[in-house]
Amino acid sequence: MSRRKQAPTVGFVSLGCPKATVDAEQILTRLRAEGYAISSTYDGADLVVVNTCGFIDAAVNDSLEAIGEALTENGRVIVTGCLGAKGDIVRTTHPKVLAVTGPHALAEVMGAVHEHLPPLHDPFVDLVPPQGIKLTPEHYAYLKISEGCNHRCSFCIIPALRGDLVSRPIGDIVEEAGKLVDAGVKELLIVSQDTSAYGVDVKYRTGFVGGRPVKTRLSELARELGQLGVWVRMHYVYPYPNVDDLLPLMAEGRILPYLDVPFQHASPRILKLMKRPGDVEKVLDRVAAWRRAVPDLTIRSTFITGFPGETEQDFDELLQFLDAAGLDRVGAFAFSPVEGAAANELPGALPEAVREQRRARLMQHQEDISTRRLEQRIGRTIQVLVDDIDEEGAIARSSADAPEIDGIVYVTDGHDLEIGDFATVTVTDCDVHDLFATLESPE
Ligand code: SF4
Repeated sequence: MSRRKQAPTVGFVSLGCPKATVDAEQILTRLRAEGYAISSTYDGADLVVVNTCGFIDAAVNDSLEAIGEALTENGRVIVTGCLGAKGDIVRTTHPKVLAVTGPHALAEVMGAVHEHLPPLHDPFVDLVPPQGIKLTPEHYAYLKISEGCNHRCSFCIIPALRGDLVSRPIGDIVEEAGKLVDAGVKELLIVSQDTSAYGVDVKYRTGFVGGRPVKTRLSELARELGQLGVWVRMHYVYPYPNVDDLLPLMAEGRILPYLDVPFQHASPRILKLMKRPGDVEKVLDRVAAWRRAVPDLTIRSTFITGFPGETEQDFDELLQFLDAAGLDRVGAFAFSPVEGAAANELPGALPEAVREQRRARLMQHQEDISTRRLEQRIGRTIQVLVDDIDEEGAIARSSADAPEIDGIVYVTDGHDLEIGDFATVTVTDCDVHDLFATLESPE
């Protein structure tokens, strides 16, 4: 019998958003399934795959830097991800890369890996866990439900990079979710470019979940996922009327009372220039109706400041919207022209200092609103999920906190909890972003 050789080893660097993370997980899963070892250092690797982000110019620079570092440290680099779809920029800057592919290109990446580092044909390769390889901690996972987007927001090049909406079959998503839960995942974070559009491309056709017919529609998907007994959190929800159908599921406790809705602006004039729905009154009515249906609902949103042509009056309308909507969590980005985006051609580009200053003013303005929302939670008993333990207690999150982007609940007497535990706590205090709580009773 021939002696087993050492497995070929691939280093992996992943940059970018949760959607890029899901792509990375699929590539890693495939690599492991084919017997490749994964290395966390450059010098232990036979080649390095860099999964890039190309959404804004800062991300482009970070990605190009990461590719440069991998070339210097290792020398054999395959580039994938959004930056790979942006023409020649990778090859012009780094002509020595072995191959470049775009986002969501599992087959192409694997083809490039096979060409430059053939797999060992060994029947004794490690079995890949059925849930795949996850880059997130064991107790939560991103679940991507579709690729691409049918909108054409003028500041965004994602549809050009990833194409129109393609929904995953509902049965596949529920099956993947089930495997994740079996593997110990306690929270599923639903991501896509446009979560509320799920199923539009296939006209909500009937799929099958465990042999049962189920429509390819967000509310049906949420109902299925809500039966798995874990937290289900919705991200990137465009404010369509069909989002209303999720509220009863939140009221019943099947999915978390949390909506991440990127409104982007609130001046009808700017929204029109952004090519986004501009009926702000309707949006405010919808937010009010959601809150009536689910008083505990947390709404997170993101906004762009300093869009081309934005006047002080437009910006003021945005601040007034924040007052009226009373959003719980807000993120803001100063407009940054993305190469290839239609918005770059619009008249009235603003200096970077103005874009940035308005971003800071918006965040300052929102601070009081967010703090008031948090103060309303003092004295209440809530469920939290533990992310970490340190000498000061447990670091946890509530239904109102998505990992990495929202706040934290510090459970000051939670030293005996474990990562991935659910616990019931009473909120004792808050600061601008976070809550402080003490243990009620472990579950
Ligand atoms: S909805 Fe999102 S992904 Fe789609 S074009 Fe607009 S910003 Fe881009």
